[in-house]
Amino acid sequence: MEWCQSIPKVELHAHLNGSIRDSTLLELARDLGETGVLVFSDFEHVILKSDRSLVEVFKLFDLIHMVTTDHTTISRITREVIEDFASENVVYIELRTTPKKNKLIGMSKRSYMEAVVEGLKSINSVDVAFMPHDVDTHSPLNSLSIDNNCNVTPRKRIYVRLLLSIDRRETTEDAMETVCWQLKLDLKFAPLIMDGMFTFFLHCSLQVKLALELKDVGVVGIDLSGNPIVGEWTTFWPALQFAKENGLAITLHCGEVPNPKEIQAMLDFWPQRIGHACFFEGDNWEKLKHLNIPVEICLTSNIRTNSISSLDVHHFADLYKVNHPLVICTDDSGVFSTSVSKEYSLAASAFGLGKKEIFQLARDAIEFIFADNEIKKILNQVFDSYVTNLA
Ligand code: 5GP
Repeated sequence: MEWCQSIPKVELHAHLNGSIRDSTLLELARDLGETGVLVFSDFEHVILKSDRSLVEVFKLFDLIHMVTTDHTTISRITREVIEDFASENVVYIELRTTPKKNKLIGMSKRSYMEAVVEGLKSINSVDVAFMPHDVDTHSPLNSLSIDNNCNVTPRKRIYVRLLLSIDRRETTEDAMETVCWQLKLDLKFAPLIMDGMFTFFLHCSLQVKLALELKDVGVVGIDLSGNPIVGEWTTFWPALQFAKENGLAITLHCGEVPNPKEIQAMLDFWPQRIGHACFFEGDNWEKLKHLNIPVEICLTSNIRTNSISSLDVHHFADLYKVNHPLVICTDDSGVFSTSVSKEYSLAASAFGLGKKEIFQLARDAIEFIFADNEIKKILNQVFDSYVTNLA
């Protein structure tokens, strides 16, 4: 476990609110209890329980969303989550979250995302590189910090990119808003909207602008998540297709429950990555391998939610054996009381992988990130420098 903690790692499947610290969740629930919004004792045991079924997990998410509604809290959780991942040597993370609206407190999907970005900006303990221009090829692993007494110390660096999640409870329109949150709220183009002559120009400009603005705050892709027994693929497809056509990368929660028709439709869509892949069978299983779509593997999550009965029968083994692209992830480190290091450690013991294999597995994840090649180059340098420092 200690060794797994020491190596650089890449996290590609982490939900912001699912990665909340237990201590923060307890504190926020207690505060809300004091204001009479909820009865704290009703929730305390739910928070402290660790072996939750899939149904209980989604109940817990409802509680988490009750206590994490305002901008300040979203910024705080973002800060803590990134600090936690950085503390165990995650050097690149794609953090996903569903932008939420709440008219009562003036929260829009855009302001929700701005709160996330504020959270990233507020981190002092580590160097957070989340804007494309934060790329610094000279010092990929650490930057230097100078305190008031002119002492120079190396600071850890973590590269952060964001994925916007579409929740399966959302309508087509909501999903489209998640993809286009920049587009809908950008007032600079309002004069053009008034002028029919510019309709064509507007259409093209907004699409380009959307892609550029999303990049500016480090958004690189879209995820489809939420309760897998809710909603229909046809509802989300238009927004996902629109996102794809505009250059956003797509990852889908796929095959979390037995639903061969949906799995087939998702594979036909050909996303850049999928999450979980627990209930694949027959042709779909073969097709997944044939298409070589990278799978985000969340071992603890799959066991806790009873999607997989035990690690002995986990599909990781089959996929690993045929060299299928895989990346070890946490899913919800808070909800499932896990960490990336624990997940690697679990993979090592469950599937008999040695240090060399684990290191290679961690390094291979670089290939499946949604950020550009420049970042891939930097991450490869980070892994190289780890090896050099050991020698
Ligand atoms: P948020 O998007 O609020 O930051 O993160 C929590 C949300 O992520 C949950 O409400 C749920 O929609 C989604 N999520 C977290 N874990 C899982 C999972 O294991 N499966 C699915 N399908 N969705 C999840």
